[in-house]
Amino acid sequence: MVAVRGRDMEDTLFRPAVATEMSVGRIERLELSVPLPKTEAIVFGGPGWTLPEDLTIAVAGRAEAIARGERLYPEEAEREQRQAVERLKDRWKNDLEDSSYGVRSIGALLPSFDQWLYREHGVPSYMLTQVMTGHGCFGHYLHEIKREPTTICHECGYEDDTAQHTLESCRRWAVEHQNMVVAAEITSGDLSLHNVMSAMLRSKRTWKEVEAFCETVIFQKEAAERLREDSADAPPLRRRRRGRRRRQYALANS
Ligand SMILES: [Zn+2]
Repeated sequence: MVAVRGRDMEDTLFRPAVATEMSVGRIERLELSVPLPKTEAIVFGGPGWTLPEDLTIAVAGRAEAIARGERLYPEEAEREQRQAVERLKDRWKNDLEDSSYGVRSIGALLPSFDQWLYREHGVPSYMLTQVMTGHGCFGHYLHEIKREPTTICHECGYEDDTAQHTLESCRRWAVEHQNMVVAAEITSGDLSLHNVMSAMLRSKRTWKEVEAFCETVIFQKEAAERLREDSADAPPLRRRRRGRRRRQYALANS
Protein backbone atom coordinates (compact mmCIF):
# COMPACT_ATOMS: atom_id res chain seq x y z
CA MET A 1 0.00 0.00 0.00
CA VAL A 2 1.30 3.43 -0.89
CA ALA A 3 -0.06 6.19 1.34
CA VAL A 4 1.30 9.70 0.94
CA ARG A 5 0.81 13.22 2.19
CA GLY A 6 1.60 16.03 -0.23
CA ARG A 7 1.72 19.81 -0.28
CA ASP A 8 -1.13 20.01 -2.75
CA MET A 9 -3.17 17.77 -5.04
CA GLU A 10 -0.51 17.69 -7.74
CA ASP A 11 2.20 16.78 -5.26
CA THR A 12 -0.06 14.18 -3.64
CA LEU A 13 -0.73 12.51 -6.98
CA PHE A 14 2.92 12.70 -7.98
CA ARG A 15 4.37 11.02 -4.89
CA PRO A 16 2.55 7.66 -5.05
CA ALA A 17 3.28 7.47 -8.78
CA VAL A 18 7.01 7.80 -8.05
CA ALA A 19 6.88 5.38 -5.10
CA THR A 20 4.97 2.85 -7.20
CA GLU A 21 7.34 3.25 -10.11
CA MET A 22 10.31 2.57 -7.84
CA SER A 23 8.69 -0.51 -6.29
CA VAL A 24 7.65 -1.92 -9.65
CA GLY A 25 11.15 -1.32 -11.04
CA ARG A 26 12.71 -3.12 -8.12
CA ILE A 27 10.36 -6.09 -8.43
CA GLU A 28 10.95 -6.30 -12.18
CA ARG A 29 14.71 -6.19 -11.71
CA LEU A 30 14.25 -9.44 -9.78
CA GLU A 31 12.52 -10.70 -12.91
CA LEU A 32 9.23 -11.07 -11.09
CA SER A 33 6.13 -9.84 -12.80
CA VAL A 34 3.81 -7.27 -11.29
CA PRO A 35 0.14 -8.07 -11.79
CA LEU A 36 -1.14 -4.49 -11.96
CA PRO A 37 -4.81 -5.12 -11.17
CA LYS A 38 -3.82 -7.13 -8.10
CA THR A 39 -1.68 -4.43 -6.55
CA GLU A 40 -3.59 -1.97 -4.43
CA ALA A 41 -0.68 0.47 -4.51
CA ILE A 42 -0.92 0.63 -8.27
CA VAL A 43 -4.65 0.97 -8.37
CA PHE A 44 -4.33 3.83 -5.93
CA GLY A 45 -1.40 5.69 -7.40
CA GLY A 46 -1.14 4.57 -10.98
CA PRO A 47 -2.90 4.99 -14.26
CA GLY A 48 -5.95 2.94 -13.26
CA TRP A 49 -6.83 5.30 -10.45
CA THR A 50 -9.11 8.26 -10.93
CA LEU A 51 -10.13 10.82 -8.37
CA PRO A 52 -13.40 10.03 -6.66
CA GLU A 53 -16.03 12.33 -8.17
CA ASP A 54 -17.01 14.12 -5.00
CA LEU A 55 -13.39 14.84 -4.13
CA THR A 56 -12.82 16.31 -7.58
CA ILE A 57 -15.86 18.53 -7.08
CA ALA A 58 -14.55 19.74 -3.72
CA VAL A 59 -11.18 20.61 -5.23
CA ALA A 60 -12.66 22.12 -8.40
CA GLY A 61 -15.10 24.18 -6.31
CA ARG A 62 -12.26 25.74 -4.42
CA ALA A 63 -10.26 26.42 -7.55
CA GLU A 64 -13.27 28.21 -9.11
CA ALA A 65 -13.83 30.27 -5.97
CA ILE A 66 -10.20 31.35 -5.95
CA ALA A 67 -10.39 32.20 -9.68
CA ARG A 68 -13.39 34.44 -8.94
CA GLY A 69 -11.23 36.28 -6.45
CA GLU A 70 -13.13 34.94 -3.45
CA ARG A 71 -11.16 34.63 -0.33
CA LEU A 72 -10.88 31.19 1.13
CA TYR A 73 -10.85 31.27 4.90
CA PRO A 74 -8.19 28.98 6.33
CA GLU A 75 -10.64 27.17 8.62
CA GLU A 76 -13.02 26.66 5.69
CA ALA A 77 -10.19 25.30 3.54
CA GLU A 78 -9.07 23.05 6.33
CA ARG A 79 -12.59 21.71 6.92
CA GLU A 80 -13.10 21.07 3.23
CA GLN A 81 -9.79 19.31 2.98
CA ARG A 82 -10.52 17.19 6.05
CA GLN A 83 -13.90 16.16 4.66
CA ALA A 84 -12.38 15.33 1.30
CA VAL A 85 -9.73 13.16 2.96
CA GLU A 86 -12.40 11.38 5.03
CA ARG A 87 -14.48 10.71 1.91
CA LEU A 88 -11.45 9.43 0.06
CA LYS A 89 -10.50 7.24 3.00
CA ASP A 90 -14.00 5.76 3.29
CA ARG A 91 -14.06 5.11 -0.44
CA TRP A 92 -10.69 3.43 -0.24
CA LYS A 93 -11.70 1.32 2.76
CA ASN A 94 -14.89 0.19 0.96
CA ASP A 95 -12.89 -0.71 -2.13
CA LEU A 96 -10.53 -2.75 0.01
CA GLU A 97 -13.42 -4.53 1.72
CA ASP A 98 -14.79 -5.53 -1.66
CA SER A 99 -11.43 -6.55 -3.07
CA SER A 100 -10.91 -10.16 -4.00
CA TYR A 101 -7.14 -9.67 -4.18
CA GLY A 102 -4.71 -9.38 -1.30
CA VAL A 103 -7.31 -10.87 1.05
CA ARG A 104 -4.75 -11.79 3.71
CA SER A 105 -3.08 -8.38 3.98
CA ILE A 106 -6.32 -6.43 3.63
CA GLY A 107 -8.03 -8.60 6.27
CA ALA A 108 -5.14 -7.89 8.64
CA LEU A 109 -5.12 -4.18 7.84
CA LEU A 110 -8.82 -3.27 8.02
CA PRO A 111 -9.32 -3.57 11.81
CA SER A 112 -6.56 -0.99 12.35
CA PHE A 113 -7.04 0.95 9.11
CA ASP A 114 -7.06 4.42 10.75
CA GLN A 115 -4.12 3.64 12.99
CA TRP A 116 -2.19 2.39 9.99
CA LEU A 117 -3.06 5.40 7.88
CA TYR A 118 -2.28 7.98 10.54
CA ARG A 119 0.73 6.30 12.12
CA GLU A 120 3.68 8.52 12.80
CA HIS A 121 6.41 5.96 12.32
CA GLY A 122 7.39 3.23 9.93
CA VAL A 123 7.76 3.12 6.16
CA PRO A 124 7.35 -0.49 4.98
CA SER A 125 10.68 -1.70 3.63
CA TYR A 126 10.93 -3.87 0.54
CA MET A 127 11.38 -7.09 2.50
CA LEU A 128 8.70 -6.23 5.06
CA THR A 129 6.31 -5.58 2.18
CA GLN A 130 7.05 -9.05 0.78
CA VAL A 131 6.02 -10.68 4.06
CA MET A 132 2.89 -8.53 4.32
CA THR A 133 1.66 -8.93 0.76
CA GLY A 134 2.94 -12.45 0.04
CA HIS A 135 4.40 -11.17 -3.23
CA GLY A 136 7.99 -12.21 -2.92
CA CYS A 137 10.39 -15.03 -2.36
CA PHE A 138 7.86 -17.67 -1.23
CA GLY A 139 7.30 -21.04 -2.89
CA HIS A 140 3.54 -20.37 -3.12
CA TYR A 141 4.00 -17.08 -4.97
CA LEU A 142 6.91 -18.27 -7.13
CA HIS A 143 4.80 -21.24 -8.21
CA GLU A 144 1.89 -18.93 -9.00
CA ILE A 145 4.05 -16.83 -11.33
CA LYS A 146 5.51 -20.03 -12.82
CA ARG A 147 9.00 -19.63 -11.44
CA GLU A 148 8.86 -22.77 -9.28
CA PRO A 149 7.50 -26.21 -10.18
CA THR A 150 5.83 -26.64 -6.75
CA THR A 151 4.72 -24.56 -3.76
CA ILE A 152 7.01 -26.46 -1.38
CA CYS A 153 9.04 -24.70 1.33
CA HIS A 154 12.72 -25.32 0.62
CA GLU A 155 13.56 -24.46 4.21
CA CYS A 156 11.50 -27.09 6.05
CA GLY A 157 9.79 -29.24 3.42
CA TYR A 158 6.26 -28.01 4.23
CA GLU A 159 3.98 -28.34 1.22
CA ASP A 160 2.85 -24.71 0.91
CA ASP A 161 5.41 -21.94 1.46
CA THR A 162 3.20 -18.88 1.88
CA ALA A 163 4.28 -15.60 3.46
CA GLN A 164 2.23 -16.56 6.52
CA HIS A 165 4.07 -19.89 6.76
CA THR A 166 7.36 -17.96 6.86
CA LEU A 167 6.06 -15.39 9.32
CA GLU A 168 4.43 -17.86 11.67
CA SER A 169 5.35 -21.49 11.46
CA CYS A 170 8.34 -22.40 9.28
CA ARG A 171 10.56 -24.56 11.51
CA ARG A 172 13.69 -23.14 9.91
CA TRP A 173 12.95 -19.75 11.50
CA ALA A 174 11.89 -20.97 14.97
CA VAL A 175 14.67 -19.03 16.72
CA GLU A 176 13.97 -15.89 14.67
CA HIS A 177 10.24 -16.20 15.48
CA GLN A 178 11.00 -16.45 19.19
CA ASN A 179 13.38 -13.49 19.09
CA MET A 180 10.78 -11.37 17.28
CA VAL A 181 8.00 -12.29 19.72
CA VAL A 182 10.16 -11.11 22.64
CA ALA A 183 11.76 -8.06 21.00
CA ALA A 184 8.60 -6.73 19.33
CA GLU A 185 6.43 -7.62 22.36
CA ILE A 186 4.00 -9.64 20.26
CA THR A 187 1.06 -10.45 22.50
CA SER A 188 0.44 -14.14 23.29
CA GLY A 189 3.16 -15.04 20.80
CA ASP A 190 0.37 -14.87 18.20
CA LEU A 191 2.08 -14.37 14.83
CA SER A 192 -1.07 -13.84 12.79
CA LEU A 193 -0.50 -10.93 10.40
CA HIS A 194 -3.03 -8.72 12.17
CA ASN A 195 -1.37 -9.26 15.55
CA VAL A 196 2.09 -8.64 14.14
CA MET A 197 0.87 -5.45 12.46
CA SER A 198 -0.68 -4.30 15.72
CA ALA A 199 2.70 -4.78 17.41
CA MET A 200 4.38 -2.78 14.63
CA LEU A 201 1.96 0.11 15.14
CA ARG A 202 2.73 0.26 18.87
CA SER A 203 6.12 1.97 18.55
CA LYS A 204 8.98 2.76 16.25
CA ARG A 205 11.08 0.21 18.11
CA THR A 206 8.63 -2.70 17.73
CA TRP A 207 8.18 -1.79 14.04
CA LYS A 208 11.96 -2.03 13.60
CA GLU A 209 12.06 -5.42 15.33
CA VAL A 210 9.47 -6.92 12.97
CA GLU A 211 11.29 -5.35 10.06
CA ALA A 212 14.58 -6.90 11.28
CA PHE A 213 12.93 -10.36 11.25
CA CYS A 214 11.73 -9.84 7.67
CA GLU A 215 15.12 -8.58 6.51
CA THR A 216 16.98 -11.54 8.07
CA VAL A 217 14.63 -14.18 6.73
CA ILE A 218 13.92 -12.81 3.25
CA PHE A 219 17.60 -12.05 2.70
CA GLN A 220 18.42 -15.72 3.34
CA LYS A 221 15.47 -17.00 1.31
CA GLU A 222 16.48 -14.83 -1.64
CA ALA A 223 20.11 -15.98 -1.41
CA ALA A 224 19.00 -19.63 -1.38
CA GLU A 225 16.66 -18.98 -4.30
CA ARG A 226 19.51 -17.48 -6.34
CA LEU A 227 21.67 -20.54 -5.62
CA ARG A 228 18.90 -22.85 -6.83
CA GLU A 229 18.46 -20.79 -9.98
CA ASP A 230 22.17 -20.81 -10.68
CA SER A 231 22.64 -24.54 -10.13
CA ALA A 232 23.51 -26.38 -13.33
CA ASP A 233 20.60 -28.83 -13.08
CA ALA A 234 17.93 -26.18 -12.54
CA PRO A 235 14.93 -26.80 -14.84
CA PRO A 236 14.54 -24.05 -17.47
CA LEU A 237 11.69 -22.25 -15.69
CA ARG A 238 13.83 -21.92 -12.58
CA ARG A 239 16.82 -20.44 -14.32
CA ARG A 240 17.44 -16.77 -14.24
CA ARG A 241 17.03 -15.36 -17.69
CA ARG A 242 19.50 -12.54 -17.35
CA GLY A 243 22.31 -11.57 -15.05
CA ARG A 244 25.31 -13.28 -13.63
CA ARG A 245 25.41 -16.48 -15.67
CA ARG A 246 25.01 -14.61 -18.90
CA ARG A 247 27.81 -12.24 -17.89
CA GLN A 248 30.03 -15.18 -16.90
CA TYR A 249 29.34 -16.81 -20.24
CA ALA A 250 30.17 -13.58 -22.07
CA LEU A 251 33.42 -13.20 -20.12
CA ALA A 252 34.45 -16.84 -20.70
CA ASN A 253 33.91 -16.44 -24.43
CA SER A 254 35.43 -13.00 -24.89
ZN1 LIG B 1 9.09 -23.84 5.91
